[in-house]
Amino acid sequence: MEMCKVYAIASQKGGVGKTTTAANFGIELAREGYKVLLIDADAQGSLTASLGYTEPDRLDETLATVMGNIIKEERFDKRLGILHHQEGIDLLPCNIELSGIECSLVSTFCREVVLSKYIYHIKHDYDYIIIDCAPSLSLITINAFATADKVIIPVQAAYLSLKGLEQLIKTISKVKGGLNTKLGIDGILITMLNNRTNYAREIVTLLDEAYGGAVHIYDSKIPFSVRAAER
Ligand code: ATP
Ligand code: MG
Repeated sequence: MEMCKVYAIASQKGGVGKTTTAANFGIELAREGYKVLLIDADAQGSLTASLGYTEPDRLDETLATVMGNIIKEERFDKRLGILHHQEGIDLLPCNIELSGIECSLVSTFCREVVLSKYIYHIKHDYDYIIIDCAPSLSLITINAFATADKVIIPVQAAYLSLKGLEQLIKTISKVKGGLNTKLGIDGILITMLNNRTNYAREIVTLLDEAYGGAVHIYDSKIPFSVRAAER
């Protein structure tokens, strides 16, 4: 029986809290006793850095190595590159080398499903796999959608971009219509909420008008936290 759930945390809008959400969600699930693999799928390596590997570009084995091996059809140990973090989660880190992979993907056969091939083998080791996507609808992000069960879309309360959201939701439905029929949007997560304003209610109204309740908005919202901003 297939038990592992794969989540992609995505939004092409930058700085909305994707990486923070991925890290906190992963750490929380690990605390509850689940086996969790976080995958950093952003060449900036922010998730990798936020978990304490402060110089991602010095790492030799990353998601880029793994995807590179799959593209070249080279055999490799499925645990290659995975770091075990003290919070009890595993991390497949990422660094700038992923930009190179992104370029070589363009001319790769079945370029959208390179990451799926990896997940297919590694998912038996985990209860949850969480993929932190870069702020773009790049081929790497499409690879994440092609293998995910669910997408979580963080939206920053004060800077909602309905156009951006529209584009993202369209892309997700395209992938669902072809490459990955099991894909779904788990929900929109409102982040960095300032309680002195009414943004949350406005956003929920706007989104409900736009999608008629077809896209779930989580009841829990992430407040703006000075501590997080200072990190
Ligand atoms: P990118 O698009 O660059 O990948 P992102 O969507 O992954 O960005 P984060 O890196 O998680 O966003 O967050 C952006 C910045 O906002 C970081 O400096 C982070 O520490 C800060 N931040 C995240 N969540 C909160 C919060 N709830 N309150 C205040 N600051 C936050
Ligand atoms: Mg990020």
